[in-house]
Amino acid sequence: MASTLFTNARIVDGTAPERGAPVSVLVEGDTIREVGKSIAPGKAKTVDLKGRTLMPGLIDAHVHTIAVVADLGRNALLPDSFVAVRALVVLREMLMRGFTTVRDVGGADFGFRSAVEMGGFPAPRLVLSGKALSQTGGHADFRGRYDDRATATTGHRLGALGRVCDGLDQVRRAAREEMKGGADFIKIMANGGCASPTDPIHFLGFSVSELEAVVEEAKMAGTYVSAHVYTDDAIRRCVEAGVHSLEHCNLIKPETAKLAASKGAVAVPTLVTYDKLASEGGKLGFPPDSVAKVENVRVAGMDSLAIMKKAGLPMAYGSDLLGEMHRHQSEEFVIRGRALPAHEVIGSATHVAAKLLGLEGKIGVVAPGAHADLIVVDGDPLKDLALLTRQGRHMPAIMKAGAFVKRSGLN
Ligand code: ZN
Ligand code: ZN
Repeated sequence: MASTLFTNARIVDGTAPERGAPVSVLVEGDTIREVGKSIAPGKAKTVDLKGRTLMPGLIDAHVHTIAVVADLGRNALLPDSFVAVRALVVLREMLMRGFTTVRDVGGADFGFRSAVEMGGFPAPRLVLSGKALSQTGGHADFRGRYDDRATATTGHRLGALGRVCDGLDQVRRAAREEMKGGADFIKIMANGGCASPTDPIHFLGFSVSELEAVVEEAKMAGTYVSAHVYTDDAIRRCVEAGVHSLEHCNLIKPETAKLAASKGAVAVPTLVTYDKLASEGGKLGFPPDSVAKVENVRVAGMDSLAIMKKAGLPMAYGSDLLGEMHRHQSEEFVIRGRALPAHEVIGSATHVAAKLLGLEGKIGVVAPGAHADLIVVDGDPLKDLALLTRQGRHMPAIMKAGAFVKRSGLN
């Protein structure tokens, strides 16, 4: 069993505003075995970090790994083979940015994950919802106004983010099929969206009884529901129905944020995607009607951070990027850093996200018993969050499950 001993490691895990005093961290096999002031190396290979920062591998709680082009309607029609191979590139690049776990909230299926887990290709750990549930004309219905193909034909391809279902029976069946297919949680589209063609932002997705039914289905399977939501109305009815993971939340108001916090919900803002859809989306094939919708949610996004912080609503890290825009995944750190303390921004991608994913103590932490998912950063990201950007440029080492996937310039 290979072991590594990191010495002179100053830990940043998002729980404190300052870097920790230098410690040693012993990795045995794929697990962190010991963290302490002085640890005998034994047979472990020693890596002296010389006061560099050691962090738990980052967690992105809102990605679409199969969104290989910006136009999601087109993405849904691409051949599975093309999507699978391009998605492996998306995953590899995420890992090389320091994201050792990502939560896919619409698209990737269990077969794709199983193949990735067999190894042979660098990729983060994958937690997934399978296909997102959408009502007819909702945020995963990409058929357009004049396309009357039967809904039953959507959602079957790997490149489809979601599937269409209407009414209690269909919604329950869809949720059960996703759970049977290996979903870790259920994703629903409960509000209009930017990328989809026939649903203005203010549209509410699913009736209250449908929302309650899907929440019940998730509970029956021992898991939770995540909902795509922007407007205060949409967020409130989801929270009241028992939805746990609130994606985006750009237009949330203080009362609803307080209610969500009191119910133990978690928000997953994804501000970077609106920035990039506005600046790059058009030329990358994001449809013009969709670019116009982005402005409805982009500007309000920054205010939402302060509202949610004040309400005590935990926020996990999310990026939600599409196609070539994936390369901006780490810029969410910098955007949030304009409104929130750096350690809280980092915490969103460590302990807050780990808890949301149900992997508390296993990821997002440098502690005995956790997976040995670690990144080394040159400098102090608490002083400069931009050290986490630029495709891992400031990360001389990235380790997943005890194995280095990147190691450069370290003795
Ligand atoms: Zn969404
Ligand atoms: Zn999304």
